[in-house]
Amino acid sequence: MNQPSDRLKSLSSSATLAMSQKSNELKAQGINVINLSVGEPDFNTPDHIKEAAKKAIDENFSYYSPVPGYLSLRNAIVDKLKKENGLEYTANQISCANGAKQSVCNTILSLVNKGDEVIIPAPYWVSYPEMVKLADGVPVVVKAGITQDFKITPAQLEAAITPKTRVLILCSPSNPTGSVYSKEELKGLADVLAKHKRVIVIADEIYEHINYIGKHQSIAQFEEIRDQVVIVNGVSKAYAMTGWRIGFIAGPEWIVKSVNKLQGQYTSGPCSISQKAAEAAYTESQESVRIMREAFENRRNLIVDMAKEIPGFEINVPQGAFYLFPKCDSYYGKKYNDTVIKDGDDLAMYLLEVGHVACVSGDSFGAPEYIRMSYATSDENIIEAMNRIKNALAQLK
Ligand code: PMP
Ligand code: GLU
Repeated sequence: MNQPSDRLKSLSSSATLAMSQKSNELKAQGINVINLSVGEPDFNTPDHIKEAAKKAIDENFSYYSPVPGYLSLRNAIVDKLKKENGLEYTANQISCANGAKQSVCNTILSLVNKGDEVIIPAPYWVSYPEMVKLADGVPVVVKAGITQDFKITPAQLEAAITPKTRVLILCSPSNPTGSVYSKEELKGLADVLAKHKRVIVIADEIYEHINYIGKHQSIAQFEEIRDQVVIVNGVSKAYAMTGWRIGFIAGPEWIVKSVNKLQGQYTSGPCSISQKAAEAAYTESQESVRIMREAFENRRNLIVDMAKEIPGFEINVPQGAFYLFPKCDSYYGKKYNDTVIKDGDDLAMYLLEVGHVACVSGDSFGAPEYIRMSYATSDENIIEAMNRIKNALAQLK
C-alpha cells in the first residue's frame, strides 16, 4: 500500500547530494570531515548581485513572473549569448527555470517519447540517465575513458545513432571529468548530427566560465545544426549562486514553447527575486567571474600536483569545471583489516570513514573505475584532504 509509483521505484537518488548529506551528518557528530563530494563554488555570491536582490524585494518583485522568466532577464541572456558566444537568439528562444537541473529535465521531458533513445557519453553527470528514465526514454551510454580524455569521437557518435535516437546530451566543460571539447572536436560531432536531423543536442554549458584553456566553444556555433541545439546554462557555477536556482535554455522556438507549456503546469516561472539577481549577474561587472576562475585554476594545479604523488592514481589534467576524476581501480580487491574494497562505492566509503574525506564513487557517473573529487574548496582543505587520502590508501593491503 505505502509504495511510491513505479516511476519513482526505478529512480536512483542523487549520489552527489547523498554523499554530501552523509558528510554533513558525520560533521554534526563532531567528526572533522573534509567534503570534496558536492560540486558547488565555496565563494559567497558577489555583493552587487545580492544588492540587486535586496532592491527587487523593496521594489515588490513579489508576484508571479511570466513562465519563461521576466523579459528583462531573457533580454540580458540574449545579450550575453551575443556578446560572449557570438550567438543570435531572441527572447522567445529563452526559457528560465529553477536551475540548470530543471532546464535539462524540462528539455528531456519535452522531447522524449516512450522508448526514444538518449545518447549519454560516460562519464556523465549523475542526473542525466535518471531524467531520461523519468521521461520513459532509454539511456544509451557511450563510454569514453581516460585514454581518450573522456571525450567521445564522431565515429562513436555515428555508431550509437539509430532511428530511435532523439537526444544527445553533451557536457563541456564536463562534470565529472573536467574535459573540454575543442572547436574541432565539436565540429566533428556536428558533422555527424547534421546527417541526423531528428537528433537534438542538449549542450550543458553550466561550467562555461570555469575553463582554463581559453574561450568557451559552444556546439551551437555550427549553422548546419543550429536548429538541433538546446543550450543549457545558468548562474549557479559562474556567479556562485547555487542556492538561488536560476538556469535557462536557449534553443529553437518550438522546443522553448513546449518547455514553457510543461513548466506552466509544473512549477511556473522561477523565483522572482532570484531572477532579478541573475539579471544583475549577467549585465553588471564580470570581474568576480574572472577572480573565481583564477582561484579554481590555482586549486586545479594544486590538486593535480598532489594527486600525481598518490601511488595507483591515474589522472588526466582537467581543463575546466572543478573536479578531479582519478582512475583508482588498482585499489579494488585490496583489504583494510578484513574488509575487502570491492569497488568505487566501497573505496569512497572507506575514504569517508577512515580518511574522513568525502568523495563520490565513479559508479553513479557511469565510470566505476574512478572516483570524483570536487576541488571547489580552500587550499588548506585540498592539502589536508589529499594527505588524508594518501595515508588512508597506503593502509590498504
Ligand atoms: N549540469 C551539470 C553538469 C551540473 O554539474 C549541475 C550541478 N549543479 C547542473 C547541471 C545543475 O546546476 P543548477 O545548480 O543550475 O541546477
Ligand atoms: N552538480 C553538482 C554536483 O555534481 C551539484 C549536486 C547536484 O546537483 O547533483 O555535485
